[in-house]
Amino acid sequence: MQAERRRAEKRAHRRRLFAYFAAVFIFFMLIAAVLVAGVANNQRTHKMYLLESKANDIQDKLDMLIARVHVMAFMLMADDGEPESFDELAPLVLEGWDADSKDMVRNVALAPEGVGQYVYPLEGNEPLLGYSLWEAAAPSPETVEALRKGNVNITPPIDLVQGGRGMNISLPVTMPGEENSWGIVAIVVDTEKLIGAFSLRDFVTHQVEYSLDYEDMDGTYTTLTSSGPVEHPVSWDFQTENIHWRLSISGTLDAASTFSIVLLLLGILVLSLLLASNFANRKQRKQMGEMFRELANTDSVTGCNTRHFVYEKLVDKESGKWRIDGLNYSLAILDVDKFKDVNDTYGHEVGDQLLQQIAAIIMRSLAKNKGDCAIRFGGDEFVLLFGDRSEDQLRDILQHVLQRVREIRLDSMPDIRVAVSIGGVHPSQMGDQEANYKNMLRVADDRLYQAKESGRNRCVVQ
Ligand code: GH3
Ligand code: MG
Repeated sequence: MQAERRRAEKRAHRRRLFAYFAAVFIFFMLIAAVLVAGVANNQRTHKMYLLESKANDIQDKLDMLIARVHVMAFMLMADDGEPESFDELAPLVLEGWDADSKDMVRNVALAPEGVGQYVYPLEGNEPLLGYSLWEAAAPSPETVEALRKGNVNITPPIDLVQGGRGMNISLPVTMPGEENSWGIVAIVVDTEKLIGAFSLRDFVTHQVEYSLDYEDMDGTYTTLTSSGPVEHPVSWDFQTENIHWRLSISGTLDAASTFSIVLLLLGILVLSLLLASNFANRKQRKQMGEMFRELANTDSVTGCNTRHFVYEKLVDKESGKWRIDGLNYSLAILDVDKFKDVNDTYGHEVGDQLLQQIAAIIMRSLAKNKGDCAIRFGGDEFVLLFGDRSEDQLRDILQHVLQRVREIRLDSMPDIRVAVSIGGVHPSQMGDQEANYKNMLRVADDRLYQAKESGRNRCVVQ
C-alpha cells in the first residue's frame, strides 16, 4: 500500500517536473526566438551594407572602363572624325590610367558607320562591334536606341576569337553639328580580369557565398561569377548603363552566430531543467510541510485535534482570547477515571483502544456547529469546545457522553468497564470573569476536580 503510494507520488512528481520543464522551456524559447530574430535582423542589415558597398565598388570599376570609351570619343571629335591618331591613341586607351583597370582591356576599336575597321592590338573580334548598323537586320533594337540616344552599351560576356571571354563596351559617336551617327568607339574588356578586379572573394572572408548575375534581354538572370550555390539569398540590384546587375549573398546565419544560438539553446535546456526541478521540489516540500502541519494538529492515537491546533486556529496563546469573535463557546474537560489502573491491569494497548472509543464518542457528540472541536489535551484528558449552545444543551451533551462511555465494551475484553469525570462551563456562568478560553479552562478544571473528589463517573456543570 505504502509502496504503491510512493510510486504514485513519484509519478506525480515526474509529471510535475515535466510540466514545469515544458513551461519554463517554452518561456525561455520565446525569449530566445526574439533574441535570435534580433541577431538575424542585425546580420541582415550588416549584409545589406556589405552588398551596397560592394555594388558601389563594382560600379566604380565599370565607370573607369566606360571613361576610356568617352575619352576615345572626345579624341575622335577633336580630329573631326578622322581616326588618324588611332595608332597613338589606342595603346594609351589599352594601357589605361589607373592601376585598378590596368591590363583589363583586350582590344580598342573604331567602327565608322558601325563597321569595325580600326582594331588594336588584336584583330578578329570585329564581329563584336560589327553590328553593321546600316545593314538592316543586324542591329538590335537596343543598339539602335543606344545610337539614337548616344548611350554606352555593354554586352554580356562573349567568347573572343583570340580565346577567353570579353565584354564589349561601346559608345555611339555623333560629330558636332551632324545629324547621323559617325559610328562606334569600343573597347573589349577581359571578363576574367574584370571579375578579379571586383574582389568578390572578400565575401568568403565574411563566410557567405556570393553570386553576381546580370539580366538578359528576356528578363532572366545569368550568373557572371559565383562562389557556389547561394542559399536564402539576400540581394542588391543596381544598374550600370544598359546592364542590370544583381549581387546576392547567402542569407543564412554565419557559423559564429549559429554556434552562439546552439549554446543559447543548450543553456536554456539546462536552465529549464534546473528551474523545473527546483519548482517541482518546492511543491514537494510544500506538500511535506502540509503533512507535518496535519501531524502536529492531529493526535495520532485518537484522531482528535491537539493543543497545538487550538493555539494555531482557535485561541490567542498570549491573551487566551478566542480568535473567532461572536461565538459563544461552552467548554468541558473530560478525564478518564482511574486510567492508570486500567493500563496497569490490562496493558497500554487495551488502554489505547479505550481512549480511541472514548474519543469517538466525544467526536460524535459534537454537532457540526462552527467552533465545535475535540482536543486531546494530554494523557487521558480531553477538552471539548461547543459553539453557540444553551446551558441545557451543554448539560445534555455531557450527560450523554458520560452515559455512552459507561456503555463501552471491548470485543477482546468485554468485562472491562470504564468511566469518565467531566467538568463543564457555559459562558453565561462566568459572572465577572471574561468568558475567554483561559478563564473557562480554569473553571472547568475546578469542576473536574470537584467531580473527581465527589466520587468520579459524573459531570459537574455548575
Ligand atoms: P484519575 O481518576 O485521578 O484521573 O486517575 P488516573 O489513573 O486516570 O490518573 P491520571 O489521570 O493522572 O493518569 C493518567 C494515566 O493515563 C497515566 C498513564 O498511564 C495513562 N496514559 C496517558 N497517556 C496514555 C496513552 O496514550 N495511552 C495509554 N494507554 N495510557 C495513557
Ligand atoms: Mg485520569
